[in-house]
Amino acid sequence: MKAQPLASHYINGAYVEDDHGRSIEVIYPATGEIIARLYSATSDIVERAVGAARAAQGKWAKLKPVARGRILRRAADILRERHAQLGRLETLDTGRVIQETLGDPGVAANAMEFFGGAIASFYGDYIDLGQSFGYSRREPLGVCVGIGAWNFPIQIAAMKAAPALAMGNAMVFKPSENTPLSALALAEIFTEAGLPDGVFNVVQGYGDVGEALAIHETVAKVSLTGSVPTARKVSGVAASKLKHITLELGGKSPVIVFDDAEVENAVSGALAANFYANGEVCTNGTRIFLHEGIRDRFLKRLTERTKNIRIGDPLDPETHMGPLINKTQHQKVLDYIAIGKTEGATLLCGGGVPRLQGFDSGLFVEPTVFVDATDSMTIAREEIFGPVMTVLSFRHEDDVIRRANDTQFGLAAGVFTRDLSRAHRVITELQAGTCWINTYNRTPIELPFGGYKHSGIGRENALAALSHYSQLKSIYVETGDIANPY
Ligand code: NAD
Repeated sequence: MKAQPLASHYINGAYVEDDHGRSIEVIYPATGEIIARLYSATSDIVERAVGAARAAQGKWAKLKPVARGRILRRAADILRERHAQLGRLETLDTGRVIQETLGDPGVAANAMEFFGGAIASFYGDYIDLGQSFGYSRREPLGVCVGIGAWNFPIQIAAMKAAPALAMGNAMVFKPSENTPLSALALAEIFTEAGLPDGVFNVVQGYGDVGEALAIHETVAKVSLTGSVPTARKVSGVAASKLKHITLELGGKSPVIVFDDAEVENAVSGALAANFYANGEVCTNGTRIFLHEGIRDRFLKRLTERTKNIRIGDPLDPETHMGPLINKTQHQKVLDYIAIGKTEGATLLCGGGVPRLQGFDSGLFVEPTVFVDATDSMTIAREEIFGPVMTVLSFRHEDDVIRRANDTQFGLAAGVFTRDLSRAHRVITELQAGTCWINTYNRTPIELPFGGYKHSGIGRENALAALSHYSQLKSIYVETGDIANPY
């Protein structure tokens, strides 16, 4: 199985290679097979990419917004037409199952359509000042850098590129070194859709390349999707140069299931919140706070349905769960499972590495559920980023709100109850950027997305993202004479 792209980088509308960079092996996590070899960007590649973006940005920004939007909407059409091939590429790159990844190009297309359409009506204000008037203009920032994580590579690239480009910025995007392939495919699609050369560029690399981009004098903004430790470094270097930042980071999100919840839906929500994408989702609701009054009914169905999850060949459309991204992540998740047992949580199901014929080197972990956990346990405090659910018990509303908020993170939260007054009351108290009532992990492009506390700064999606890729200019226009004492 090979997925070798024409070259490692995509700059100024064309593939570019420079084999002086550190090598990047792209591994299919289901088999351990090397499917492509790329090279991390040298400083020459970084300069070429940033230079191409700077050269292209001014002319791009001068196009009418509807003209920029039209190109993005053409890119959306191509993304949808190619969803089968892009989905397969995403499965090879991430190990996520094809039944999920076939939908990812459509999510990327949604971003192109939304921002391509919205940009023409994202304008400034007219301000009446009596004798004179003012108006404001939304202007692009210039060259923006996007740095991606490995769980949803094409979606992350699109969620950053679409608002940035719609607003008239140019972008240099660095995918995760674990999943470098689909951003290149996206760059090709942009070119086919008519995007001028240099407006969207892709450079590959490890953290040092991300840092070189984040600190570059020409770059006006850095948008990172990644972990908190990386965000500290990126925001540190960006702050030293006073750059704009957006940070989309991790979480340890709570899902609160009250005793009047519809059991089957609540179980569906908990499963989606923990096992979709092998549990490698930033918004995952990994702390399930279960009301004592619903505990037995909920856990019975949770166990039955978790045991029905089909784990195996990610390219088989019937498979629900695939392997984790790499050996480090695989070991990290197994270590957390061991810690959960040592610290006294009860393993309800899973916890092991399944033996799968034909996938001896696959990085699989069974969907795992711990019960009888307490808030202070490591598995209830740290982001695991794998298929590990921790169930905690509660009795009182006030108490569960306090416990749900007792975390450094604040990315997402969910509440399951038939009492909608209670649902809204509780949601109002939860410290999280995205909240769900009677569902989980729905992130439509129309809703702003981002974290409270250590889960992030800024917002992606919706018109909020356009604000974060623009700066506001105020213009005062005098229609009379100037009153001047001198
Ligand atoms: P990571 O922080 O290890 O890497 C993210 C990106 O940052 C990669 O491209 C990496 O090469 C780059 N990077 C690493 N060091 C850097 C540095 N010093 N300067 C600049 N760039 C650097 O994260 P990951 O392991 O790829 O992804 C998992 C994390 O991402 C989890 O914490 C997860 O919750 C989070 N995540 C958040 C969202 C969201 O939208 N909030 C979405 C997906 C993943």
